[in-house]
Amino acid sequence: MHMLKLKNPDSVSYVEVDAAKRFKYLFFAFGASIEGFVAMRKVIIVDGTHLKHVYGGVLLVATAQDPDRHHYPIAFGVVDVISDVDGLMFLSDRNASLINSRQVFPTAAHGYCVWHLSQNVKGHVFNNRDVCAIKFRECAYAYTVAEFDVLYDAFSRKYPSAAEYLEKSVEVGKWAKYYFEGDIYNVDTTNAAESINGVLREARKYFMLPMIDVIIKKMAEWFNKHRKKAAQIPATKKLVPTVETQLSKRSLEARCLDVVEINSFHLEYNVNGSDGKVYTVDLARKMCSCRCFDIDKILCVHACAAAKFLSIGTDLHLQDFCSVYYTVELWALAYCRTIYHVPHQSEWVIPDEIRALKVLPPLYDKKKGPIQKQRFPSAGESLGRGRGRGRGRGRGRGRGRRGGRLYEYFECGSTSATAE
Ligand SMILES: [Zn+2]
Repeated sequence: MHMLKLKNPDSVSYVEVDAAKRFKYLFFAFGASIEGFVAMRKVIIVDGTHLKHVYGGVLLVATAQDPDRHHYPIAFGVVDVISDVDGLMFLSDRNASLINSRQVFPTAAHGYCVWHLSQNVKGHVFNNRDVCAIKFRECAYAYTVAEFDVLYDAFSRKYPSAAEYLEKSVEVGKWAKYYFEGDIYNVDTTNAAESINGVLREARKYFMLPMIDVIIKKMAEWFNKHRKKAAQIPATKKLVPTVETQLSKRSLEARCLDVVEINSFHLEYNVNGSDGKVYTVDLARKMCSCRCFDIDKILCVHACAAAKFLSIGTDLHLQDFCSVYYTVELWALAYCRTIYHVPHQSEWVIPDEIRALKVLPPLYDKKKGPIQKQRFPSAGESLGRGRGRGRGRGRGRGRGRRGGRLYEYFECGSTSATAE
């Protein structure tokens, strides 16, 4: 952690140990992510994945979703068992400990991951489970109470046992977009371009330091990839690609809609929708009665029509009515800093006071956990080389059932054992 912070300024870390100085949990966040989070919508998703070595535990990842629908990792945690930890979360699966994050951020709105919840919901029906999950997600994503009521009424009639489970165990405000009390934009865990657990699947096979190396490598790749992508966008495009595409489609559709100005001072309009309904758009307050504009902070098709009407003869553009978080400028800012790898252990310079701190590996149950099949590379060593036990250079080689191996990693002064 000391070297990680030395190479990546403004990073933070914390390691908790028990009375016997055995590892309890670890938290770290890169300075680049902390700075970049300023440019992100303030919706945090926390996900956990079980580690695949003898010590077990869970890797927790707190991510934002960038405006182009890619995960933006903010912080990582390694915990022994998830139920012992207060996590940082706004959208998560329904783990009770993560819900306790209210104590950390009492004013924040908290919700459940709709995809995870849909998997629980479908477990309460016997037939057409996947359809049940889809129908549930449709209810969750309804923008208006009227739309929600119609969809949920149909859902509860078709899947009464699933509806009963939902009503008994989950507050509607925790999963239904319409009822959500905070700004959720269009963030949800099912529309991300990639799964964070999928990306970090390789990492969870390793012990602590090689796992952190993999995380750093992936983070450096993501930051470089999206930094390049943002830089390649022509100056004429002001919004991130997915939003630009969405707005272009809506703009085309909006051409066919009739707009009637009802208050030129408050910028209010009635727009005849393609479904035959009349929608009221308030451009000054960035609202539409369909609520898509209010929640997503992107012009809905009705607001597009009204904005086009207003923009005639002015230099206003559609992007001026969308949230600033969708601009390429802010998107690029989030990825502006480089993430640097931790050098090879032979190059470490560790102060004596940090080197003196020791952390013992956690106790583990010999019956649990698969056998580690790969040797553990040293920090800063390429993870692609030396696969297989026979080709290791001795250190860290073996099946991982000897508690001393993890200890060796900590002994290198790689952790502070105190809050920093
Ligand atoms: Zn609308």
